Amino acid sequence: MLLGILIQSCSKKESADLIITNGKIYTVDEANPIVEAVAVKDGKILALGSSSEIADYISEVTQLVDLTGRTMTPGFIESHAHLMGIGYNKLELDLMYVQSYDELLDKVAEAVSKAQPGEWITGRGWHQDKWLEKPDKMVKGFQTNDLLNQVSPNNPVFLRHASGHATFANAKALELAGINNLKGERPGEVEGGEIILDELGNPTGVLTERASSLVGKLVPAETPERAEQALTLALQELAEKGITSFHDAGSGQSTIDLIEKFKKEGKLTARMYVMLAGSDPELLENWYKQGPRIDSADHLLSVRSIKLFCDGALGSRGAWLLEEYSDRPGHFGHETLPMEVVGQVSEKAIPAGFQVNSHAIGDRANREVLDQYEGAFGKFPDKNDLRFRIEHAQHIDLEDIPRFGEMGVIAAMQAIHLSSDRPWAIDRLGEKRIVDGAYVWQKLLQTGAVVTNGTDAPVEPLDPIPSFYASVTRKTLAGTPDGGYEANQKLSREEALKAYTLSGAYAEFEEGFKGSIEVGKAADFTVFDQNIMEIPEEEILTAKVMMTVVGGKIVYQESK
Ligand SMILES: [Zn+2]
Repeated sequence: MLLGILIQSCSKKESADLIITNGKIYTVDEANPIVEAVAVKDGKILALGSSSEIADYISEVTQLVDLTGRTMTPGFIESHAHLMGIGYNKLELDLMYVQSYDELLDKVAEAVSKAQPGEWITGRGWHQDKWLEKPDKMVKGFQTNDLLNQVSPNNPVFLRHASGHATFANAKALELAGINNLKGERPGEVEGGEIILDELGNPTGVLTERASSLVGKLVPAETPERAEQALTLALQELAEKGITSFHDAGSGQSTIDLIEKFKKEGKLTARMYVMLAGSDPELLENWYKQGPRIDSADHLLSVRSIKLFCDGALGSRGAWLLEEYSDRPGHFGHETLPMEVVGQVSEKAIPAGFQVNSHAIGDRANREVLDQYEGAFGKFPDKNDLRFRIEHAQHIDLEDIPRFGEMGVIAAMQAIHLSSDRPWAIDRLGEKRIVDGAYVWQKLLQTGAVVTNGTDAPVEPLDPIPSFYASVTRKTLAGTPDGGYEANQKLSREEALKAYTLSGAYAEFEEGFKGSIEVGKAADFTVFDQNIMEIPEEEILTAKVMMTVVGGKIVYQESK
């Protein structure tokens, strides 16, 4: 009798909800690195193996996905980006790639055609010096708004310059700001800025520096409806880019509440790990009291970390360095937070059960943060799985590199920053510091440190493929230089895949639940049209995400 039941249970396999078959599936599980097929039940991986083995789990209710030989990996984990920023960016007109004034006008006209009467049209990123041809009428180096007024007579328009130092408004917006009629006033002069006027004394729509705020202050503040729109767009972007889990690098209670609302409504299509904005002490106090929120049921929204912002960036020479900038003698950058605060927050975070994630770019900032972490760790000797992180960890002194491994501090890097910044970063740091300690992913791995990957979107586009490419080539997206920058610091494809999957999961204490394709783990997958693990490196940038699966549900599928 017992034998009979056993035999039956062996031959009749459990029925799967979803079967993904006939693929090249990289599992990030060293014991079983490549399989052909996966069976999924209740959002988790039920079995994996060859296509014929997994066929045993098919029943009439099973959804079947045939990969036709395509490549699948564990769902990609974006370890450092800004959720609402991604969404809000999409709500505004992106004028960064516009090549003429006419093209800018076309974009505004399209937005006007979709807008409610009187609704503001906002955008950012235009730059008249990048246009292939200039309009006939230019005043003080800028276009004028005559044509913009024709395109949008009734909707106020407000467009920020790429530099952030100027804006371009239409007549309707200027009228609302009371600057359409300057008679009797001192024309054009504003404290700390300028309203640019044409030869007849009429405003041209261009406002510089602080004059921009005359119109900018009228643009409606973010409303709850707009926030919902932004989150919807951000989640759509995550799904399209194959991101199944997302570390939100610093948000407040209103964002957490909004994500919670989406979760309740079944609209949360990626798993969220939110870092609390450390700039808000009241927020932190509230969370110390209530303790971390660890979503052990759905694994969709967890809050158990604090983001601190410790220095600036290399571009603006704000990154905090031990030695002066090579291209600005006597200048060292600066901390953006008294370093004691890192220690104080850490000492409260540890007993309350929170991880601390500090932004540090320069070698001085990295050292100071490590010192503060070390001091705090020393006060809680019995707590040994804290997994504190340094966000970016871009430039580290040789002496401090081993401390990541020794202290168990995670380096949450963004490989794509190397592609964008390395060509000029050498001017800031000089050859020796670049070679010793800038973007030293391989050196960090060799100390035993965990290294994650991400994009810092919307600073860089959210697409993980360029950042994956950067991590294995150490080249710019134009493919330069030959062989890559400091080639001995490249990641192998396997290391790069792990950084974007299992290591990301580890950085949020979820490596037991996701990050690799193993029986019992979450059915989070990303499918690519090309084999990013094997194609020649110059082809990686042409790869695209075909499908995204979160908890066994297909949240994105390329339409063709
Ligand atoms: Zn960031």
